[in-house]
Parts: sequence; C-alpha cells; structure tokens
Amino acid sequence: MGEHHEDTIANLLDQSGQAVMVGDSLKADDALAKARQLDPVTFEIELARRAWANQLGGDEEIRRRRENVIKRLGGVAVAAAERIDVWKQLAEYLRQLGNHEGVLRATASGLKRDPVNVDLWVRRVKAQIELEQLVSAARSLKHACVVSPTHDAVEALIRVHPLCGKCGALYPTSGADTCANCGADGPGKGAPVRSVRSRHQSKFDIYFPRVRDVLAEALDMPDHIKKRLTLDTLVKRHLKRTNQQCARVLRAMSNEFGAAFDHELFKSAVIGYLDLLISDLIRAINPKDDKTIDTGIRRKAMYGTGA
Ligand SMILES: [Zn+2]
Repeated sequence: MGEHHEDTIANLLDQSGQAVMVGDSLKADDALAKARQLDPVTFEIELARRAWANQLGGDEEIRRRRENVIKRLGGVAVAAAERIDVWKQLAEYLRQLGNHEGVLRATASGLKRDPVNVDLWVRRVKAQIELEQLVSAARSLKHACVVSPTHDAVEALIRVHPLCGKCGALYPTSGADTCANCGADGPGKGAPVRSVRSRHQSKFDIYFPRVRDVLAEALDMPDHIKKRLTLDTLVKRHLKRTNQQCARVLRAMSNEFGAAFDHELFKSAVIGYLDLLISDLIRAINPKDDKTIDTGIRRKAMYGTGA
C-alpha cells in the first residue's frame, strides 16, 4: 500500500481543506495539484472517501452525492484497471448502496486482473448470496477456498454457509430449512450438508498457502516469486537449500503453527531439502489442535443455537 502515497495524499488534501477555510485558494489549489501529481488514482480514491463520508444535507442529497462518487470512481477503475484497490473500494461502495449486481461486475473486473485476490472473491460470494445466486456463490467460495483456505473471512463464510448435500448450492444461513436452489431439506431440518472445504481439499491444499507465506518471508522471497510458489515449483526450482535456510524455515513454521505441530513428525523433518521439509512440516501440523480448521466450531455454527 505504501507505494501509492496514501498518507501524503491525505495530508495534502487536509492542507487544501484548511487553506479553503482561511480563504487561501491559491494554497488550496497548490496542495490539490501536488496530491494529484503524486498518484492520480490514490488521489481519486481519497476524494471518493471524503465525499462518501460527507453527511451534509438531507438523505436525498447524501444519496445523490454517493451515486456520483460511484460514477466517478467507476470511471477511474476502468481507466486504471490494474489498480485492485479501486475495484475493492468501488465494490464496497456498491455494496453499501445495496447494488449487488454492481458488486458482481466490479469484482469480476478486478478478478480478471488479479484472479487470486481473496478479498474480491469474498465480496463476490457475499453479493451472490444477497442475490440468491447460490450455485454461483458456492462456486466462488470454492475459488476463495483454493486461493486462501485459511483466510479469516473465508473461514467465516465456510462456517456460516454449508452446501446443500443434494445439489451443492450454498445455504444462505447455517440453519436454513430448505435449499433455495433445489428445494431439498436444509440443515434446519437436520439434513446432512457438505462443506466447500472437506470435499475439495486435502490437508496439503489447506495448509500450503499459509506455509508458503511463512516460507517466503523466512527466505526473503520477492512477492512475484511467492505468488508462483507451489509444492511442485518448490521441488523443481528450490529443491536444495542450505541447512541454515531450512533451519530458518523450521523456526518460522514453529512460530506460526506452534501448538498445532505433531512433535514426533516435526522432529523427523528433513533438513536441506526444502520440498521434503515442507511436506514433513505440513504432515506434522495436527488439525485437531489448530483452531483455524476446527470442525467443532463449524458444526456448532450449523446445528447450534444460531440463525
Ligand atoms: Zn439443493
């Protein structure tokens, strides 16, 4: 985020506003021009934030102002399509106005440029649930789950939204009586449900993204390399590492997963060969002790007192 000068631009906009208050329009314009020059896209995002937060005027006026914000930000998004921060912001505003079709369009555009952006996937799932597109929502949640299976927001969605055991559509709530897609009995009537995760992912799939992040940080890998890292590319390109590097990865992993390690397996981790080390480490993670995939919590969310 730092590279887009958010803080400096916000400061310059504050200065401009203060200059307006004391009637110094020259200084005000100067600060605005400087801010725009630093990064025109961030400048637009910041202007949009301020206009959005502006509560002056009646409801009608606020709504009109917000619609204008969306129109303008939509133009910025199209002109600077690579800037995912604009698509995210736009999706957020559209959601707040209840324009869920708009959210679908904005997230689709963003995901075209950055298909592994979990934030956009989560927004998309939520919009699809709002629109009762529950088969598509299930599909999007599966994508989110593949992209970032241990992300908090993905976890939360998985816990609250089981899949219909019959057709695979997402239930809008964990206690739904019937499937809105096929009409089958839902968890509210005690019907068996599926989870996006348990059906489609092994322990390796679930943990690899998190392990990859820890690994990339421990080895100072640049972001673009990290994004391409799979267990397979580890085998091909990063197979042999020095013992010191592997020891660093081991340490970072035990910091990250701590109590979730099965210590016997952990001790047997092979030093030197990164792919073997990683496989051993993932095998050593004991899901029973790891709250991030606590099936008990999910069961409670589905069958407990909830919704
Ligand atoms: Zn169904």
